[in-house]
This record gives sequence, structure tokens and C-alpha cells, in this order.
Amino acid sequence: MSTRVTCQRSAIGEVIRSAPGPLHPREILNLASRMVPTLGIATVYRHLKHLRESGEVRAVGLGRNDVRYEPTDRGHHHHFLCRECGEAFDVHGCAGGIANMVPPGFEVQEHELTLFGRCGECVTSERTAG
Ligand SMILES: [Zn+2]
Ligand SMILES: [Zn+2]
Repeated sequence: MSTRVTCQRSAIGEVIRSAPGPLHPREILNLASRMVPTLGIATVYRHLKHLRESGEVRAVGLGRNDVRYEPTDRGHHHHFLCRECGEAFDVHGCAGGIANMVPPGFEVQEHELTLFGRCGECVTSERTAG
């Protein structure tokens, strides 16, 4: 029993770690069920809770009702959200001068930045279809 649980959780951890950006619980379910075919969405949520509590994974809010999960050890980065296919990608690098955008006397403690548009695959598929 405990091996099965460990196996499910490590499959979920593996899927999150190997993704190009934060994943929806639904995407996690799709990818992890290739390794663990018996997996269900309730189990995914349960393991996500444990992975967050243990500090391995964090939740990322990319929009209203859009919560995805990514590893905590990726360092400072931002996200690109494809409006067409809905996939999220990590974006490395950071816009400069953010700390200077606030009124004088304010102190910026952290920031989040999400870019919206179309991913390479969606741009390409439109060109070949058109
Ligand atoms: Zn796309
Ligand atoms: Zn930044």
C-alpha cells in the first residue's frame, strides 16, 4: 500500500518537474496517468497538498480560477500563458526597473509577471493551416 502511494506521488513530482511551465491539476493527471494508469483527480489533489506542505511544489495563480503547480526550486522567473491552447511556460529573465514603478517612499517586496499571447506551436499551426 505505501509503495503504491509513494509511486503515485513520485510520478506527480516527476511530471511537475519535467514540465516547461506550471501545470494544471488536469494536465498533471493526464501526464501522470501514463505512469500510474489508476490515478484519479482526487488523488492528484491529495498529493499536491502533501507536496506543497513538504515544500517541493508551490501554487501559481495565473488568472482568476487558474491555479497551477510548479517546483519550488526554479528560482526567480515569470510565466507566459498561451491564450489559444492554455499552456503555461516558464520565462527566464526579468523586466528591469520594477522597483522604480511605485510612488516615492514605497518599497517593493516581490512581484509577479505573466505574459499573454500565443505559443510557438499555436503560431506555427495557424500558419500551416492557413
Ligand atoms: Zn499554445
Ligand atoms: Zn521578476
